[in-house]
Order: sequence, then C-alpha cells, then structure tokens
Amino acid sequence: MFSKILIANRGEIACRVIKTARRLGIRTVAVYSEADAGARHVRLADEAVLIGPAAARESYLAAERILEAAKKTGAQAVHPGYGFLSENDGFAEACAAAGIAFIGPPAAAIRAMGSKSAAKSLMEKAGVPLVPGYHGDNQDAAFLQKEADRIGYPVLIKASAGGGGKGMRIVEQAADFAAALASCKREAASSFGDDKVLIEKYLVRPRHIEIQVFGDSRGDCVYLFERDCSVQRRHQKVLEEAPAPGMPPERRAAMGKAAVDAAKAVGYVGAGTVEFIAEQDGRFYFMEMNTRLQVEHPVTEMITGLDLVEWQLRVAAGEPLPLAQEQLAIRGHAIEARIYAEDPSKGFLPSTGKLIHLAPPPESLNVRIDTGVEEGDEITPHYDPMIAKLIVWDGSHENARERACARLLQALAQYRVVGVNSNVDFLSRLVACPAFANADLDTSLIEREKRFLFPEDTRAPSDVFLVAALAELLREGETASTAAASDTDPHSPWHLRDGWRLNSSFRRQLVFRFGETEKTVSVGYAQGGFELGLDGIVTLARGERIGNSMLRAELGGTRLPATVIAAGEKRHVFLHGRAWQFACVDPLYHAGEGAGEAGGLAAPMPGKVIALLAQVGAEVEKGAPLLILEAMKMEHTIASPAKGRLKAFRFNVGDSVSEGAELVDFEPEA
Ligand code: ADP
Ligand code: ADP
Ligand code: MG
Repeated sequence: MFSKILIANRGEIACRVIKTARRLGIRTVAVYSEADAGARHVRLADEAVLIGPAAARESYLAAERILEAAKKTGAQAVHPGYGFLSENDGFAEACAAAGIAFIGPPAAAIRAMGSKSAAKSLMEKAGVPLVPGYHGDNQDAAFLQKEADRIGYPVLIKASAGGGGKGMRIVEQAADFAAALASCKREAASSFGDDKVLIEKYLVRPRHIEIQVFGDSRGDCVYLFERDCSVQRRHQKVLEEAPAPGMPPERRAAMGKAAVDAAKAVGYVGAGTVEFIAEQDGRFYFMEMNTRLQVEHPVTEMITGLDLVEWQLRVAAGEPLPLAQEQLAIRGHAIEARIYAEDPSKGFLPSTGKLIHLAPPPESLNVRIDTGVEEGDEITPHYDPMIAKLIVWDGSHENARERACARLLQALAQYRVVGVNSNVDFLSRLVACPAFANADLDTSLIEREKRFLFPEDTRAPSDVFLVAALAELLREGETASTAAASDTDPHSPWHLRDGWRLNSSFRRQLVFRFGETEKTVSVGYAQGGFELGLDGIVTLARGERIGNSMLRAELGGTRLPATVIAAGEKRHVFLHGRAWQFACVDPLYHAGEGAGEAGGLAAPMPGKVIALLAQVGAEVEKGAPLLILEAMKMEHTIASPAKGRLKAFRFNVGDSVSEGAELVDFEPEA
C-alpha cells in the first residue's frame, strides 16, 4: 500500500479522500489554488502545495504543476477525485510516465469511454443494449437530419465529448433540427473543444439508473449494485438513491452483468460507473461510462457498508478486489441530496458569498455529511457551488426507503445556511412531494411537480414574523441589560426595555421588509412577555434565546422551537423546517406615531466602524446616516432613529465593536 498520496482536487471530494487515507495510515498532500489557500481540504491534509491562481485551467487542471507537486513531496500516487483531471487520459499517462500511480483506470480505458460515440460503438460490439440512434463519424448536417427523421422525434442531440449535463438539445420536430444541431455544435466546441455529436431517440419519462463497477489489475470485475439518479434538473442529478426503487433482482443481475461486460470490454481497473437510461417498463440502454469515482458514491457505500475510496487505493496498489460478487449484498436504503449554493427560484442560478452561518444536522450512523466548507468559508465563483452532500441511510427490512425519506426531511429541516442562497428548502419540498415519496420517478419529475416545488405564494405565515419580532425584542432586552451593567447608573430608567416610557401609552412597531411588501408588528409590553399585533390579531408572545441564534418561542401558548439569525439588516428565520429571509427595518428604533426614543444606537453585529457621517452636536433628521459599520464583509449604515441631536460618537473610525455595543449618544427632539 502507498504511504503518501497526492489529491489532485478540492472541495468535498478532496476531504472525502483524505478521510479514508488517514484511516489507512496514508499521508496526504493537498494541492490548492490561490482562491483556496484557507480551504478545508488544505487544512485537513498533512501537506499542501500551492499550484497556481484561482482559474482551474492554471491550477486544478494544470497537469504539469500537479505532477511537479507530487514529485516534490514524494507522493507515490495521485487521486484525481471527480471532475477536473479525473477523466483526462493524458494526465493518467503522464502520471504513469513519471512513475506515479494514477488512482483510476488505465489511460486506454479512459480514452475508450471518453467519446460517447466511440464508447457506444464498443458497447454495441460487446452486446450491451443501446438507445436507438446514430453515433457514427458522419457529421454532415443534412445526413444527421435524415438520421433524426429515421429515428423519429423527439430526438436528443448530444455532444460526444460532453459531460455534466452540458451540450444536449432536445428536438421535438424535424423543422427544429437544423437550428438545434448548430447550437449544440457551438456549445460543444466551446465547452469541450470538440463539436462532434451523436443523436439518440429521446425517451419519454425515462429513469436514470447506473451501476457501480469495480475492476482490479488481475482482470476481475464486480458490480456494487445500482443507484437511481432520476431526479435531475437541467440533466444534472439532484437526489440519488440506492437501491433503485422497484428493481426486481433479475433485472438488477442483468444490468449488473451488462455493466461488467462494458467494463471488461475496455480492460477496466478501479471504480467506474456505467450509466443506463431505463424505460418505465424496465428496458434499459447504455448511455455512457464515467471512468472515475462518482459524486453520488456514498449511497453505494451506505447500502454495502464498504469504503469505495479504500477499494480504489487497494486496487491501485495492485491488490485484488477485497470481495467477490457473491460476498456483496444490499442492506437498507440510502438517499443523497446535493446541497448547493444556488437559487432554485431563479433557474438554479449559482450563488456566491461567505457562509456567515452554516449548521448542518448532527452526523450519526444514519446521517452522513460530506463537505468541503465550514462556517466562515466562502463559495467563490471559480468552482462548483456545492456546499455539501447530505446522505441518509435506514436499515429497516420493510420500509427502509420511506424511513430514509423521513430522515432526509428531518435532516434538511435542521440544515441552516446563511450568507448564500441554498437549495435546502427546495430539497425539502422535493423529498416531500408525492411523486418522490411514492417513488414515481423519472427524469422529468422536477418539471412535472413544479407547481408543488416552486410555490408562487412564498409569503411567510404570520408566526414567522411573530418569531422574528420576539427574537428582536429578546435580543434588545439582553443588550439593554448588558449596557445597564456597564453603565455608571445601572438603575437609570433609560435602560429599561419593558415599555415604560414617560407620559406615553407607547406602542412600538417592528417593520419587516420582504421583497416589495412590508409587515408591521406592533409591540405592547405585557407581564413576562409581549403583545404582538399583526394583521389585526394580537398574540401573546414570550420565550428565551439560547446562544446567539436559537429561540424557545411561545406564541399564544404554543411552543415553537425556532432559529433566528441576524446578519446586517437581514433576518433568517428557520421555523417549521423551512427558512425565510427578510429585512428588519431599523429594528431598534422604529418607534410608532412620532414617539421619539432616547438612548443610544447599538451595533447589530460585531464589526468595525469605518466612517462617521454626521457632526457631533448636529441636529439631524430621522433616517439621516450617522455612521457606517463594516461587518461580514458588508457595510451597514446606522441611521438616526428620529429627528434629534447627535451628542457623541462612542467609537472612532477603525474601532472594533461587539454586537449590541452602543455606538452613539443621541437625543431625540422633545
Ligand atoms: P452527461 O455526460 O452530461 O452526464 P448523459 O449522457 O449521461 O450526459 O445524460 C445526462 C442525462 O440526460 C441523463 O441522466 C438523462 O436524464 C438525460 N438523457 C440522456 N440521454 C437521454 C435520452 N436518450 N432520452 C432521454 N433522456 C436522456
Ligand atoms: P456525476 O454523474 O458524478 O454527477 P457529472 O458529469 O455531473 O458527474 O460531474 C461530476 C462533478 O464533477 C460535477 O458535479 C462537478 O462538480 C464536477 N465537475 C465536472 N467537470 C468539472 C470541471 N471542469 N471543473 C470543476 N468541476 C467539474
Ligand atoms: Mg452522465
């Protein structure tokens, strides 16, 4: 076995490989780009080598620099992960030439499967079933049109060198073919440097079922059963599960055999995946082979109890496969959800930024999280915006899938991501939607269920605003008592936040802005709590904050555990297993009906004062900017709560302030 390996990748997969290497006593070398200097994979590895700037072309795809790093550190083998150089036959060859083991298949096998067209020709010869189509060399537009007409519409035009769901066009009718072909070729040329295409019959409501295979250098090959990855958006997987629901043992064996035949036909060694597209009646056809470890390999690990990275390392070190086909068995059901920094409501547009708050559910025998980031890390525009893979498993004999779904829903409800948009809520709706729950799977599930998955009414229920208001008031109370404790006159009535005001029947208002709409919660102070008015209904609210974000709320006698995270003006409320986001407008001082308020202005979060905007002693209007606080890489303007006079700044430019610190002395107009 190797004693030191280099991981030519980043993110969760680099961390995943390091974990197994460490367990096996193998030292690890990470490589990283300038953008990843503080990344988790760099922190976890025993050694790390900077290989270049952020752009993948100059770092994670720069084969020579990676090989140089391997030589310099004395790594005996390179694990390429997935993506990047994992399916680059030239890189596999260069490793071999440098006397470094490539933890993957031989270069010839990568090459053979690298072109979807050539792979299909090979598979045809090996007797593996293919989708009806054309995958030959003739690329003449008129010829391809004739082929499409012969196959019958709808057809799918695919870039032969394509991957990651790119370079595909569905053509519904003959008249649209020419334009789709031209646009597909353009995308193929720019994305993959090769404009060759193939044409397939476009199957209606198919399932994506893939088989995990493993070969060793002695010529043995086994299959580790199937994964169903039918739930996709833009031809990319969102949820993956194993085993495939409703798979009869005979079909599993037939697909397993076809996959092993495919692998053997190219002299396959190591981990690989043979992807099939299957009709609802079970007929299946070869689609492509991915000659690497797959993103979704954890579901296979969960149902087999095996570590596929360990198998990869053993096989690459020349050992035989650890188990024979008869020794492999399925236990339970596993589902993986890909947690992405993206906005599902905007066509799954990737989102970037700092992960201000990141709290995954606790890991256990049933819940696994593979991630490359932690709270405080950044999702940059340079790489894939995946935050984590959340994998659940249930080992029951009877209803393992149903229970795995329940576990997944629970884990998603606990998952909290603040700082970037995430697909967590979308995934919750997806797992809960009847089609998925009933395993009525096909690749158009998301499209079919879109009314359920993208609800038009995203308005938050009233208790979300009440919880947000309660959190605000409780936080304010804590701030007030902290301030009182540090003041020369701790008994000053100005520190009280219980609604006591000189000569007023004071009612405050908290305003939450949510897109275009504003919600106003009026606050009355009651014994041990608050009377919160919203949309004409008054609710008695009380509770306590636990730490900085958790809230034990009680609304009208009903207990509601919630989490409220404040980031600048933004409030993220996690309630009922969902997340809502809105702005809290001027939270401390949005006083009602001309009622000015005395006292200072507090920092909404820890930060640094970067500008003082008003003159000490000046008379200012309500809303006039007083100072700017920089926190969480954002600027927050602290504005005047009312018309009045700025008596003093309590900090200077450059000072750090803690959350709740009073920033200015302000005297509202009498
Ligand atoms: P990639 O290399 O991008 O993964 P694949 O050939 O594996 O490309 O196809 C990706 C997805 O596109 C499949 O999982 C499936 O959802 C869809 N797809 C591919 N071929 C067909 C087809 N012939 N009919 C219907 N859907 C298809
Ligand atoms: P899978 O079937 O394993 O999901 P994909 O073809 O979707 O395979 O690609 C696997 C993953 O590899 C993608 O999710 C993406 O994160 C990563 N990937 C693919 N190509 C690249 C690339 N050029 N640069 C960075 N990451 C890539
Ligand atoms: Mg594929």
